[in-house]
Amino acid sequence: MKQPYERPSLRKLTAGTSGKFGPRPTAPATTELEGAAVAGLVAQYGSPLFVLSERQLRRSYQAVQRAFATRYPRVQLAWSYKTNYLNAVCRTFHQEGAWAEVVSGMELEKALLNGVPGPHILFNGPGKRRVDLERACQVDALIHLDNADELHLLLDVAAAAPHLPRVALRVNLDTGFYPQWDRFGFNLENGEAWQALTRVVQSGRLALTGLHCHIGTYVLQPEAYGQAATKLAALARRCQRELHTLVDYLDLGGGFPSTNTLKGAYLPAADTVPPLDAYAEAVADALLGAGFEPAERPLLVLEAGRAVVDDAGSLIGSVLANKRLADGRRATILDFGVNLLFTSFWYDHHISPARAYSDHTEPTVLYGPLCMNIDQLRASIALPLMVPGDQVVVHKVGAYNLSQWQQFINLRPNVVLLDQAGTPHLIRAAETLEYLQQLEQVPDHLL
Ligand SMILES: *Cc1c(COP(=O)(O)O)cnc(C)c1O
Repeated sequence: MKQPYERPSLRKLTAGTSGKFGPRPTAPATTELEGAAVAGLVAQYGSPLFVLSERQLRRSYQAVQRAFATRYPRVQLAWSYKTNYLNAVCRTFHQEGAWAEVVSGMELEKALLNGVPGPHILFNGPGKRRVDLERACQVDALIHLDNADELHLLLDVAAAAPHLPRVALRVNLDTGFYPQWDRFGFNLENGEAWQALTRVVQSGRLALTGLHCHIGTYVLQPEAYGQAATKLAALARRCQRELHTLVDYLDLGGGFPSTNTLKGAYLPAADTVPPLDAYAEAVADALLGAGFEPAERPLLVLEAGRAVVDDAGSLIGSVLANKRLADGRRATILDFGVNLLFTSFWYDHHISPARAYSDHTEPTVLYGPLCMNIDQLRASIALPLMVPGDQVVVHKVGAYNLSQWQQFINLRPNVVLLDQAGTPHLIRAAETLEYLQQLEQVPDHLL
């Protein structure tokens, strides 16, 4: 009789001391952050808890500044608000000297409230509304034009503006980094950018002040920035020659990687991400070789986001439960999921247990608490046998999570900043049900 088919299954043996892929994975504990005990932070502020390090924010900022300024002295960093717009974070960067880079009317107001003068605010983004442009003109922000309709709208707004609005043109260009981001700004190679520049200058109603590009995010090729700088500088030289306009600055945007490891990467990012110096070298070479008179060299503006904030953030969470999946794999449910850790869709975050265990680890699937199948933090990570109530620390979560986190199924938790002495300060309180409900209204007939 023919036997029924049974699906074969492969099971990785994890016993023994080492395999052909190296020693057995261990999971060293992270018991403190900047000298503050993880257990103490949880006792005081609860779990989950975001922790930001002021020391690391400043260190990362200064590292970018130093890498570029030692090669091209006229450098100005502008903090990318959307990457993390908690006021304490923004103000740390502003204290370090950063301007603000904003992409909406809301972010523009936030920067103003953080004390940034209008002329130090760069207004990017493809979705500026008339009221946003009016406000930008009123405070003399630098408006980075994205498209022809926006240019027409601004020309209209400019007629009633208190002074000549200062603008930069966002340009998209082929740098060898693919896929090319051609949905933002005016294309260089097809002549669209030049047409817009001519329009801006000949209108007489706008002051052309800069040229901008932002070629992508987590860009691993320093040469792409060299290409972008070369092409943007050539465009600036053409403005000088043919439009008799000397732009003040060239803005190369952000996109520099952090040392987080992308999902599916073969090696940890710390071993593969080029150093900042390589990016700075490529850009400085291009700008110094572009043929500007030394006195006419433009200011180099950079809008580094994740590269200056990712390393400074940690997320502490707790084990809620363990279980076995149908195939025998161990699964652990944590008290945070993709609602708080948006970047787990792209990164294999480094996650440590928060106390010491034996050296025994087991491949574990990490789930969040959401009742949603997509709520998986890691498909497989070597962790010790933690029990409910134990804590973990997720490293390098400072970029994008605190602006893209969701109030979904659970409320957002406390966020603390560890100052340079390691003392915690609450910088955003945990949300309450009252906070969540205060904007809701129930029609009379449903009361
Ligand atoms: C998001 C953004 C940035 C920051 O990008 P990172 O990849 O985080 O460095 C800078 N400039 C613009 C225009 C952006 O949209």
